[in-house]
Amino acid sequence: MPLNELIHSIPKAELHLHIEGTLEPKLMLEFAKRTGMSMGMSAEELKRAYRFKDLQDFLNIYYKGTDTLRTHEDFYDLTMHYLQKAKENNVVHAEIFYDPQAHIRRGIKFETFTEGIISAMKNARRNLEISSNLILSFLRDLPEENAIRVLDEATSYIHEIKAVGLDSAELGNPPSKFSKAFEIAKDMGLLRVAHAGEEGPPSYIWEAIEILNVERIDHGVKAIEDPNLMKLLAKERIPLTMCPLSNKKLNVIPDLKNYPVREFLKRGIMATINSDDPAYFGGYVNENYTAIQRALNLTPEEICTLASNSILASFIPEERKREILEKIKGPCEKHGVQSFNLSLDSRA
Ligand SMILES: [Zn+2]
Repeated sequence: MPLNELIHSIPKAELHLHIEGTLEPKLMLEFAKRTGMSMGMSAEELKRAYRFKDLQDFLNIYYKGTDTLRTHEDFYDLTMHYLQKAKENNVVHAEIFYDPQAHIRRGIKFETFTEGIISAMKNARRNLEISSNLILSFLRDLPEENAIRVLDEATSYIHEIKAVGLDSAELGNPPSKFSKAFEIAKDMGLLRVAHAGEEGPPSYIWEAIEILNVERIDHGVKAIEDPNLMKLLAKERIPLTMCPLSNKKLNVIPDLKNYPVREFLKRGIMATINSDDPAYFGGYVNENYTAIQRALNLTPEEICTLASNSILASFIPEERKREILEKIKGPCEKHGVQSFNLSLDSRA
């Protein structure tokens, strides 16, 4: 049974979203025009180019797109555009990744992009009633010293940044490469998350937990290959921020019928559904819920569990969690769901 109405009406949090990955072709052309750059393509042609065939194809267009982001205004508009989309998807809280190194290496100042993003987040808090947290993400294919330098730059914005993350090309760049950077981040009072087990093996997820002391794992689909790891994720209540359309598009799991999210829920793992780079992977958060619901024929109860997991797994104060969880009850009860876990107490 398609559950579009339920999916749309549940308030949810989005916990795995790269702001640079929300750059729609139309925005890309607008930003390019502002800086006098030529993309050499129309919006239609760009849209077609977004149908890349593999990771390299994706990265080529992704970095070309990122290069159109130059000014405070560009970053503000990009973030505002995402937050409006989030609002349309009934996202009430977002935890947003950004990649400082991708901008610093193009000569953009840390304060330009950080302040642009933060001012849009503040505006959305006031005018769209969407709360949000910022997660500073390190590019794992660059050396650790480079990540440590970024942390140094972040010092004056420390009260605006909630956590650090780890993204980009996973294979050959295990979490342990960043042990020192994550230790420094912890000492600075920042929470920690890391992409692991997307293309990389389960051992990368172990490293993220044991060496980087992460609060959450981003993706984590490969945990399905390791029963002991599954037990640990369930026991320690370490959430997974899963992104079905991204995993399908990049051929991590080519057929969503094989997506392990139901198995994770059955084992008591706190799985959540997110959009990753929605402009590039074919959909925002509701489209991700819809795609996985259809592929696995998820029940209303499973949908409600995924949505409440997103709130429980977020970095918002307990009081705000309770407030949102209360609002989830209505749409879920309307679909006959009574028994899903809304308790904050079950979280270790
Ligand atoms: Zn990601």
